[in-house]
Amino acid sequence: MVIRKLNKLPKDFISFIRVSSGIAYRLNMKVYLVGGIVRDLIIGRESFDYDIVVEGDGIEFSMKIARKFNSNFRKHHRFGTATVYYRNYKIDIATCRREYYPHRGALPRVSRASLGEDLLRRDFTINAMALSLNKTDYGRLIDPYGGYIDLKNGIIRIMHDDSFFDDPTRILRAIRFEKRFSFRIEKHTLALLKMAVSKKALSSVDDQRLRDELILILKEPSPLKYIKRIQELTGLSFISKGLRVNKDDYYIFARIEKAIELYKNKFSTYRRIEEWIIYLMALLSKLPRNDVIRFCKSFRLRRGEEKRLVDYFEHRKAARYLNRNNIKISRVYFLLYRLSFETIIFLYASSRNKTARDNILFFLNKLTDVRLSINGHDLARLGFAPKKLYSKVFDGLKMAKLDKGLVTKNDEIAEAKKIFRRLKK
Ligand code: ATP
Repeated sequence: MVIRKLNKLPKDFISFIRVSSGIAYRLNMKVYLVGGIVRDLIIGRESFDYDIVVEGDGIEFSMKIARKFNSNFRKHHRFGTATVYYRNYKIDIATCRREYYPHRGALPRVSRASLGEDLLRRDFTINAMALSLNKTDYGRLIDPYGGYIDLKNGIIRIMHDDSFFDDPTRILRAIRFEKRFSFRIEKHTLALLKMAVSKKALSSVDDQRLRDELILILKEPSPLKYIKRIQELTGLSFISKGLRVNKDDYYIFARIEKAIELYKNKFSTYRRIEEWIIYLMALLSKLPRNDVIRFCKSFRLRRGEEKRLVDYFEHRKAARYLNRNNIKISRVYFLLYRLSFETIIFLYASSRNKTARDNILFFLNKLTDVRLSINGHDLARLGFAPKKLYSKVFDGLKMAKLDKGLVTKNDEIAEAKKIFRRLKK
């Protein structure tokens, strides 16, 4: 079948593939667009991943392309893959390969293969289609496993019965595609999925691979429905033992969505937030701090990610002061200013107390950027010593600025003197 979908691609990307097609022809190789991009082109969904496979040497092909377009290029010899950066596109180019799993849940060993075999190693039929970019049959859909019909019927179907055991992350991928597209996991596939779960397939997977899938899920719009489905099919123990979500969490997830909207509408100039971290905070919020730290370590979250998560657990008790009506402005400031916006948004969303929410909004509106007119050099010039007291002096100055309304530089200097005297006593 010739699918006239390629012309739905962005114009500059079409020029890229036209040129690539010529290069492949001269190298006597065959090239195809493959995987999620083909699926998305068929259903008319915008896609950001461009995957190309090559029958031939993918790395050689990529090098020629990169040279032709003068693009950045990175190769990964182990898998025979490369990434080419062309304008705003990140294009992953791979040699067609078959995969062999040395043991269940491990990363696969690979060897060169035909396009048909390459498609066979994929997760679901809807992701196992290719579009030819070759001169002789440009735009032809290659669909040996019935992906097109499954896509039209909204069905998630694995490629072979061992699939979930070979790579149990596919269990989470199946749920992700099912919920994202409102599709249905086909009956036999669902039975195999449940069997893999009952044989504890997920526990054979590296935590880091589970982390990647979990993050992808939390990055989907409205991730709660995905989490509920995971709870129903696999349980959430692979995240932390005994973890469950209930009605209270449903409420909080909904409130997080609203809070994120609010932030994006009113405060997005502050900093781009990582929404998935807020949802993860919500998921973990019932666990003791030590379990959260254990999760961060075994899932190897980045240091900044871990910090944002753990900060919540360290500050949530103190944050209760925000419930008070007569709280000083400086107190609001000092409770919140060291926290990430992700943590602040979660505190806002999860607080049922209106005063606390108002205080957090006040912070976001007025207090995120409290600056003093004087700095360390000024203090040194005026002979303030020792220097190790400076940060306390600045904290005190900010407090006074917020509560007493210091306005001029001289106000600040006078206040600094008082604070210094107090500190040295
Ligand atoms: P998304 O729209 O979420 O990016 P995608 O289908 O493009 O989905 P990727 O993770 O970018 O997903 O993978 C690209 C392609 O690689 C998939 O379409 C699928 O063909 C294949 N693939 C990815 N992960 C697996 C896996 N765990 N097992 C088998 N095939 C996979």
